[in-house]
Amino acid sequence: MEMRDGFAGSVGDTPLIRMAALSEATGCEILGKAEFLNPGGSVKDRAALWMVREHERSGALRPGGTVVEGTAGNTGIGLAHVCNERGYPCVIYMPDNQSPEKVAILKTLGAEVRVVPTVPYRDEMNYQKQAGRYADELPNAVWANQFDNVANRLAHYESTGPEIWAQTGGAIDAFTCSVGTGGTLAGVSRYLKERRSDIEIVLADPHGSALYNWVTTGEATMTPGPSITEGIGNSRVTDNLAGTEIDDAVQIDDQQMVAMVYDQLRSQGWFFGSSTGINLCAAVDVAKRLGPGHTVVTVLTDTGHKYQSSLYNPEFLAERGLRPDG
Ligand code: PMP
Repeated sequence: MEMRDGFAGSVGDTPLIRMAALSEATGCEILGKAEFLNPGGSVKDRAALWMVREHERSGALRPGGTVVEGTAGNTGIGLAHVCNERGYPCVIYMPDNQSPEKVAILKTLGAEVRVVPTVPYRDEMNYQKQAGRYADELPNAVWANQFDNVANRLAHYESTGPEIWAQTGGAIDAFTCSVGTGGTLAGVSRYLKERRSDIEIVLADPHGSALYNWVTTGEATMTPGPSITEGIGNSRVTDNLAGTEIDDAVQIDDQQMVAMVYDQLRSQGWFFGSSTGINLCAAVDVAKRLGPGHTVVTVLTDTGHKYQSSLYNPEFLAERGLRPDG
């Protein structure tokens, strides 16, 4: 058995899992990068670690300094773990439309959580802008700034991308995933395109986001929402996403996503969150378009545990006209 060194040493090197039923249904190999197996439970552990290391390397973050971030959840969870291991206090600004499970986890992990009203990005009271201002005011503090700090993308260029390349032995036709900050898609795309430029990169978008239109028309205009997905979709093109080679985009609606995660739960034994549902639906779409015999890789971002009051709450679904059985 391989040995890992501490929390930081346990981030990444996740398995690549063959999604059995989806592969059989499409005649393709549909492979999921098991990011939910990171020690903090999501794909965002990588970004959290790389951003903290970059702030240390630049000298902005010194011993005892505070790490501040605006995050809907998983980045905050990753940062709280990384900060505990390295001895930094962690302050998290979060919009008030997020699941109570995420607030509770962050508090348990020791982060100071500031829940603020949900307002658009252009508003000065937006949670990200509040986080940036607070870090500016506080001595020896940094704003992790996951949306525009390209250390986030670098995490995936230096780790996730090379891992996928090695695990598939380069036999990969397409990669698809949804985008919050864009760090995952942008970093993986950059790495894979350098290895083989014909690997197709497909952005998976929920409704109520501007990224599907951005990829397909060049204009980042919002599609009608809302969506119950959390942590994905964006109204703007972040610095992490800008300049990324993306070949196509698919839009997945909440009903497709709900049917996917419940089918994975009931027939395959998996317990996934909503962005994983979007990613798997997108992988199936891409596989169907490419036809049998192709390999499509996507990301299994986190588990369903944080979404018990929403995605896995029958009343929550019924109120929105969503059905687990499709
Ligand atoms: N899925 C989940 C569950 C997330 O928390 C996030 C990050 N907000 C994403 C997907 C999107 O990842 P990225 O920020 O790298 O685009």
